[in-house]
Amino acid sequence: MVGGRIHAALTQTAIERLGRLRQLMEDRRLDALFISSVPHIRYLTGFSGSAAQLLITGEALHLLTDERYEEQARGELFAVPGLVLHITREPFAYVRQNGLLAGGERVGFQATALTYAAVVQARRLWRPCRLIPLRQGVEELFVTKAAVEVELLSRAAQIASRVYEAVLERVREGMSERELAAEIAHLARYMGSEGDAFDIIVASGERGALPHGRASARRLRKNELVTVDFGCVVCGYVSDMTRTFVLGRATAEQRRVYDTVRAAQQRAIEALHVGMRAQEADAVARRLITEAGFGPYFRHSLGHGIGRSVHEPPALSPRAPRRQRLQAGTVVTIEPGIYVPGRFGVRIEDDVHLTAEGAQLLTTAPVELLSL
Ligand code: ZN
Ligand code: ZN
Repeated sequence: MVGGRIHAALTQTAIERLGRLRQLMEDRRLDALFISSVPHIRYLTGFSGSAAQLLITGEALHLLTDERYEEQARGELFAVPGLVLHITREPFAYVRQNGLLAGGERVGFQATALTYAAVVQARRLWRPCRLIPLRQGVEELFVTKAAVEVELLSRAAQIASRVYEAVLERVREGMSERELAAEIAHLARYMGSEGDAFDIIVASGERGALPHGRASARRLRKNELVTVDFGCVVCGYVSDMTRTFVLGRATAEQRRVYDTVRAAQQRAIEALHVGMRAQEADAVARRLITEAGFGPYFRHSLGHGIGRSVHEPPALSPRAPRRQRLQAGTVVTIEPGIYVPGRFGVRIEDDVHLTAEGAQLLTTAPVELLSL
């Protein structure tokens, strides 16, 4: 259970989004909409279990989950008008048997969230309803965050920032990447995080050249760079932060790479503004890295939205749709990196809230190259 004020504000946010969702249904001439993405279900109902489906009709919201989650759901659900809890192991058959769909309707479903097998089953059981795949529209409802959500994302970012500072005191030569990951996870829980936002990344030495190097048994050695990437969770909202530090002394080359990544991040954060093309945000950082001669080593996009999940739109990517522009209220990561294959890597990642005044930093851990 979350605090009363926060629960009430999240409920209000869900009601507003449901209003927009019903508008979307009207625009697409849908009589019902089947939501299968777990984070989306949580945004709309407050339910935090990992197995559920949500059927939205003209007046009702039918949350279908199984008995394992019954009690949890009763404690968590938002007071959203029309929300009804159903306990079943067979959601598609249940919908039919209980007449939740009248028949002959157009039912939208999330093309990227429902398996092929489930679609086949629904088509058969819900006859003569027509199932209409939606590729877009739902996810977009969650791009801009309400004030209460920014507050929770900011808390998650603050915990990550404090965890980083505290874990630096525990880093020592000879400890394994996994041990360092365990220290991060341990501190995060004690500092108020509900869990790890994702598998903690610790990549040292030449493993630093792997952008997503999950913590391994490799031991930390003197005069090597170490990249840690982790996130904390508050009321289901996540943070995502990366820092690179050196154990001992950095070489001139490592320092030059670090300064380039840092400058690229700084430039992107300063340039970020409402109405900017998502592609351009990426390009600002990429140009600086390319001019420094490291262009081919920046091998992912600049950043991504965060919320109840670690990767949400918008993608700050060269491949983002050209028309896509950044909106006020978006919370995104800014995470340029340079990965020198077989040798070392540097990434720095912060979470920012985009407002009319520009990007406000949510993560506050030190960004200079720290030598331990
Ligand atoms: Zn990250
Ligand atoms: Zn990230």
